[in-house]
Amino acid sequence: MSSERQKVLFIGGLPRSGSTLIEKVLNELDGTFAVGETLHLWERGIRDNERCGCGDLFSECSVWNAIGEEAFDGWDNVDYERMIDLRWKIDRTRRLGEIVKAHHSGLITQEQDEYIEHLAKVLHAAAKTNPGTEVILESSKHLTTAALLALEPSLDVRVLHVVRDPRGVAYSWTKKVKRPEAEDDYMPTYRPSRSAGRWLTDNIGFELLGRSVKQETVKYEDFLEDPVSVINQVIRLAGLEGSPPLDFLSDTEADITATMHSVAGNPMRFTKSSTITFKKDEAWRKHFSKLRRAQVAAITAPLLFKYRYPLG
Ligand SMILES: [Zn+2]
Repeated sequence: MSSERQKVLFIGGLPRSGSTLIEKVLNELDGTFAVGETLHLWERGIRDNERCGCGDLFSECSVWNAIGEEAFDGWDNVDYERMIDLRWKIDRTRRLGEIVKAHHSGLITQEQDEYIEHLAKVLHAAAKTNPGTEVILESSKHLTTAALLALEPSLDVRVLHVVRDPRGVAYSWTKKVKRPEAEDDYMPTYRPSRSAGRWLTDNIGFELLGRSVKQETVKYEDFLEDPVSVINQVIRLAGLEGSPPLDFLSDTEADITATMHSVAGNPMRFTKSSTITFKKDEAWRKHFSKLRRAQVAAITAPLLFKYRYPLG
C-alpha cells in the first residue's frame, strides 16, 4: 500500500438526491476516477456478477479485474461472504454509535478494522491501476460507510453531502425503477413517510459527521441552477490540484465522454457518452397531493429551514 494518503471524495446523502448526475460530471474531470458504491462491491460485483457502469459484467470488466489483481492478487482471494456479513453487521445506520465512539477514542474494533482495510485496499488499487488518478470518487452515499472510511489513516476522506428537497426525494422513492444490471429487479420503493424519516435522520447524521470530517453540503437544486460554481466548489473540497478544464460543462448542459466503471448505483451511471441537459425535476409538484407534501414537510421541518427549503 502506498505510504501517501489517497484522496477520496465521498459522495454522501440520501439516494435519489441527484448525486449520480453530480458524480458523472465529477468523473469527467481530469484527475478523478469514480468507483461507484464499493459498499455493494462484495455482493453485487463479486458474488452476483452484475454489470459495471461500462456495461460489461463485473467479471469481464478489465478495469475491475486490474483493481482486484492489484488489491488481492485477484478477486478469487477475497472471502466475499465474510465481507457481505461484515457490511450488514457494522456498516449500518443503527451501528453509528459504535463508529462515533471509534472516532472519539481512536480505538476501532477488529471487525471494523478488517472491513475498512478491505475497502481501503480497493480504493488504493483503483487509484494505482488508473494512471493520473488524484482523487477517487466513492459514492456509497451511506453515512456509516463515510464514517468508517474516515477512520482509515491511509485515506484522506472529504465528504460531499448532497441534499435535495425532501418532497422531490420522497416522490422519487415512490416510483418503480428497473435496475438494468439485474434481470427482473427493481430499485426499492418507500412510502413518503418512511423516506421523509430517513431524509431527516440521514441529514442530521451527516451534519454530525461534518464536525470530525472535512465536509461540504451542496443542494441539488443549486447544482442545477449554477453547475459551474458548484463543481468549482467541489474541486476545492476534493483537493484536486491545478484547475482541471471545465470546457465540457455549461450552465445548461454537460458533454459526457468518460466511461464510468462504477460498481452498483443509480441506473443513470450506464448512460454512455452523451450531452446531459440540466433541468429541474419537479414532477412531484404535479403528482404529489397536498396532503403528501404536507406530511413530508411536517416530518422534515427541523432541517427544511436549515437548508432553506420552503415549508409549504
Ligand atoms: Zn467497467
